[in-house]
Amino acid sequence: MWVLLISLGLWDKDDLVFHSHANNQFCTSFFTKPMEWMHIPLGLISGKLFCPKCHYRLGSFHMAGIQCSCGSWVSPGYQLHQKKVRWTLAKLQ
Ligand SMILES: [Zn+2]
Repeated sequence: MWVLLISLGLWDKDDLVFHSHANNQFCTSFFTKPMEWMHIPLGLISGKLFCPKCHYRLGSFHMAGIQCSCGSWVSPGYQLHQKKVRWTLAKLQ
């Protein structure tokens, strides 16, 4: 589904939000800018993120922030699970 998002221009590597790794732990997710296709209703504090095409669950978001597996907090956090997209990112580099 990530190839689809990228090919449709719905997501790009530039949309990644980088964070400093708190304790050198492996990050099992990464963070992105809020995207139009997420269709997050105004005022919603937290929820899940789904692929707009296949409705596969990609991750979740929280306005107050989400803690990465490495210990860092990203606020607001739009978190996507890395294992589902790692190969796609590798192709973009
Ligand atoms: Zn991290």
